[in-house]
Amino acid sequence: MERLGKLRVAVIGAGAAGLCAARHVLSRANSFEPPVVFEQSARVGGTWYYEERVGTCDDSRPIHSSMYRDLRTNLPKEVMMFPDFPFASHLPSFMTHWDVQQYLETYCKSHDIMPHIKFNTMVEEVKPISMETDEGGAVRWEVISRGMHEGHSTQIFDSVFICSGHYSAPHLPSIPGIELFKGKVMHSHSYRCPEPFAHQSVVVLGAGASGVDILFELVQAKAQVILSHNKPALTFSLPLEIQQAPPVVKVQDDGSLLFQDGSVAHAHVLLLCTGYNYHFPFLGQKQLGLEVQHHLVAPLYKYLLPPSFPSLFFIGMCKLICPFLHFHYQIQFALAVLDGTVQLPSRELMEEDAEKERQRKIQMGVPVKHLLQMDSDQWDYYVSLATTAGLSPPNPVIQSLYDEVAKRRRANPQTYREINYRLVNATEWQVLNSPSVE
Ligand code: FAD
Repeated sequence: MERLGKLRVAVIGAGAAGLCAARHVLSRANSFEPPVVFEQSARVGGTWYYEERVGTCDDSRPIHSSMYRDLRTNLPKEVMMFPDFPFASHLPSFMTHWDVQQYLETYCKSHDIMPHIKFNTMVEEVKPISMETDEGGAVRWEVISRGMHEGHSTQIFDSVFICSGHYSAPHLPSIPGIELFKGKVMHSHSYRCPEPFAHQSVVVLGAGASGVDILFELVQAKAQVILSHNKPALTFSLPLEIQQAPPVVKVQDDGSLLFQDGSVAHAHVLLLCTGYNYHFPFLGQKQLGLEVQHHLVAPLYKYLLPPSFPSLFFIGMCKLICPFLHFHYQIQFALAVLDGTVQLPSRELMEEDAEKERQRKIQMGVPVKHLLQMDSDQWDYYVSLATTAGLSPPNPVIQSLYDEVAKRRRANPQTYREINYRLVNATEWQVLNSPSVE
């Protein structure tokens, strides 16, 4: 991208992705002005800042974080870390959310990001202010924000990094007759701890990462749990106390839940562990030519930028990834595009590339709702971003440990966090202790 002076970058959000973006912009002071990071809340950390409250904040914004009190990370710290910023050595491999929050605060301090964050400031609108979308980078961005104390402000930027997260807006499936349910309907976004559910009957809908974690918490707190899901088979065996059922198809007139196989249950609580919607209330999606559905943002070249607007970057939209590692590569690739180190193909070629990638996945049998899931594809993706932008690719040990943990999680999601690991070198890891797993 051609440029004259230093570039101005806006970053939306001061969670892990926004902090990573700010850190890398700051370290390229020859090409970039210090970033402006807009953060609607009063602190950094995003989803890792645990809120006991549910519902809304004092200023009536919806609570952002979906963390629950006893959550432990599902990646070991050796895999989860930003590659250039290890977690403290005294921490176990699988950490609490407090540990991760502290890590992000330390990251922020170490890179002197704090002075560049506008706290209590919500971005309300982001729009291109020139419709010239040729590769000359003529488009600039108007960012309209509202500060809790200062009112509205409009600023112009050369590029915008969207780091607003996508685990905050609950996805609520439509269940016919739901208004007839006599118990409590809630989403995992508002689940904090199991004690209030003791001796209650709970139907957990969804067997994804949160559903399975919460299920075990509920059973330990002596709730009676039915896990309702549409997976043909789970990869692990459930404790005897947990019943399984196919998806809920409707709520009947008497308030009972009817499952797909004709069975019926009464429950105190229907807990929806049904995931989250992509949600960008500050973007005019039509104007940008973007399709945003609850499970999809498209088209994105390299899962990162809309081909028509190559100075707008969506950081971390993919799922089944190592998020911090993913941010690390996407952000540095994006900055290399902006400073001209990386030349993007034409808009048409980027559109073709995004479509080819979509077709590749569809032909492999990936359902449309999972098009943004990466899992084993993520490694080639990082190598491709790294090679193009002149960065070191991830050490092979990261993939190897990620695969090992995934295998253990599939086999037993209740115990896989009991192991501590150590990275020996760029290719090898070691188990430090494994109390209940050989
Ligand atoms: P977020 O952390 O959500 O941060 C987004 C920030 O943007 C927030 O601070 C928000 O206030 C701000 N914001 C949003 N909209 C606006 C706006 N309009 N204006 C201004 N500010 C705005 N990842 C792992 O690596 N390991 C795990 O073990 C793990 N466990 C998880 C467990 C749960 C329950 C959840 C929900 C997620 C988990 N994740 C885990 C994924 C986690 O989301 C990522 O690790 C990462 O923290 C996402 O960072 P982010 O910066 O993209 O988004």
